[in-house]
Amino acid sequence: MKFGTKAVHAGVEPDPSTGAIMTPIFQTSTYVQEGIGNHKGYEYSRTHNPTRDALQKSLAALENGKHGLSFSSGLAAIDAVIKLLNPGDEVISVNDLYGGTYRIFRTVFEKYGIKFTFVDLRDANNVEQYMTENTRLVWVETPTNPVLQVVDIAAIAERCASRNVLLGVDNTFASPALQNPIDHGADIVMHSVTKYIGGHSDVVMGALVVKDDALAEQLYTLQNSCGAVSGPMDCFLVLRGIKTLHIRMKQHTANGKKIAAYLNSHPKVDKVYYPGLEDHPNHDVAARQMHDFGGMMSFTLKQDDLETAKATVARFKLFTLAESLGGVESLCGHPATMTHASIPKEEREKSGVVDSLIRLSVGIEDADDLIKDIEQALG
Ligand SMILES: *Cc1c(COP(=O)(O)O)cnc(C)c1O
Repeated sequence: MKFGTKAVHAGVEPDPSTGAIMTPIFQTSTYVQEGIGNHKGYEYSRTHNPTRDALQKSLAALENGKHGLSFSSGLAAIDAVIKLLNPGDEVISVNDLYGGTYRIFRTVFEKYGIKFTFVDLRDANNVEQYMTENTRLVWVETPTNPVLQVVDIAAIAERCASRNVLLGVDNTFASPALQNPIDHGADIVMHSVTKYIGGHSDVVMGALVVKDDALAEQLYTLQNSCGAVSGPMDCFLVLRGIKTLHIRMKQHTANGKKIAAYLNSHPKVDKVYYPGLEDHPNHDVAARQMHDFGGMMSFTLKQDDLETAKATVARFKLFTLAESLGGVESLCGHPATMTHASIPKEEREKSGVVDSLIRLSVGIEDADDLIKDIEQALG
């Protein structure tokens, strides 16, 4: 089945008791048992809920996996992955990482004896240098947040498989419409569903998709044991969002390409980070592993200081200053003071998060209006 058909249909069947076409919101914590040990597969909603089950099936199908797991946030999904590990285990990750991921790694899990190393993985060979006999997991984002670095998933997957190391990919920026890491050898795909999959900035949710049965079993046990599950209402909203994911991503991408080209030719703009631009350092890898390039980009100003960045952002009218991304409306953000504020200045500047870096989540409005807004904001 092609992606657009899966987006509309996968995991969703008319409700057997009523014929309702849309999966009902099963807003219930518990289920009647006809006798001891005799129930319909549902006992308690932390463990199973029919609305969540439908969503989990849909997510698995969208990522060409076999098992989907829905969590109360993207970070709760990452939390479950790290809980697969034991004290003494080591994780290699990218050095241009979502701030919240960096924070959970360093401030929560280091004290449980798990070691994290942050490496530039734009060259996949770098991963080998840092692998030890204790390495259990490689965790990458691609494209990365916020400077859109691209990591070659297949090249990393090859190096992980030969050493029995798990590869997890945070696929939030691409969405399942534009990139499917399992097809390139990843073991675990993670999403902040909050972003493109939900798509309407009205839900916080996370997801994992895997192919391997044993790995799925371990993760379901963690999901149920730790309890960071998503609620039925949120699952319903995301099921509804998914039905238009493929057409939303087409519009995000069309607008994204126009805006990246505009920024790239603007005299006040210094660098533009967008994997769809031919001068992006890993454009060829992106073109190979992504179906298209999406609506996320960032840029720096020739006048690289905090005041100019602040004034530019303040002039935006259509682009709203806010955290998050992936909704139908265009947003702008200032990584150095917002999403990446918890990363030390020296460390963030090494990966390009300078004071004038502005990140755009290009929405699905008319591109001409968006370009006019950027034009007046840049002055
Ligand atoms: C937002 C985000 C997360 C965290 O997800 P939440 O739903 O906010 O917990 C992780 N990775 C990336 C790339 C993100 O953008």
